Amino acid sequence: MTGIADTLQDTHARITAACAAAGRAEQDVTLLAVSKTFGPAAVREAHAAGQRAFGENYVQEALDKIAALADLRAGLQWHLIGPLQSNKTRVVAESFDWVHSVDRLKVAERLSAQRPPHLPPLQVCLQVNVSGEASKSGVAPQALPALAAQVAALPRLRLRGLMSIPEPAGTFDAQREPHRELFALLQALRRQGLPLDTLSMGMSADLEAAVAEGATIVRIGTAIFGGRTRRATA
Ligand SMILES: *Cc1c(COP(=O)(O)O)cnc(C)c1O
Repeated sequence: MTGIADTLQDTHARITAACAAAGRAEQDVTLLAVSKTFGPAAVREAHAAGQRAFGENYVQEALDKIAALADLRAGLQWHLIGPLQSNKTRVVAESFDWVHSVDRLKVAERLSAQRPPHLPPLQVCLQVNVSGEASKSGVAPQALPALAAQVAALPRLRLRGLMSIPEPAGTFDAQREPHRELFALLQALRRQGLPLDTLSMGMSADLEAAVAEGATIVRIGTAIFGGRTRRATA
């Protein structure tokens, strides 16, 4: 049986090859291990193999895992990558290091107000609904400049960049399109004067296409932990 240390190594090899093909530095791409539906033991195993950043979709599932792994807390980074309702912002502001899925000012304002003073600012990305995305989450590209300016001004958040979840596409070229679009949106915000450095894009199936278009965080679940046999619980 292949263990998590092996699949992590394979995933790093994919990132290395994709960076080489794109002429990019490998250190510029962070591997976020998406541990949704997998228990604390899997995260512990990945941590023992050197993995530090973990992504979760469902707030309650993540809180249970964070509590079960409290002994490792200083060596782990927890990223929320799933939808965030405004009634859950307080626990998220208290427990996570990053939120990739901010798409409304109200949620951002609550996260900023509720971020405990003893913690560093919460690192956030705005989720963008790029073309071809069926999901209703994510800010529309036209509304992005105004939202980004407002979120960047919130005192207890640090706006880092953009995130997207494109529809699956069959070919490498088709996979690249929405990632290229997100890159262009980031560049436009930088020209607007925002100091953004993060593009959270690319999953197990399209890691290479995302790195080719400038991803700085790839969010990888299946390729590391295996197939998910159950839906994560909300
Ligand atoms: C589940 C999930 C991932 C990981 O997807 P895989 O295909 O398993 O790599 C990445 N990003 C988000 C937002 C997810 O929900």
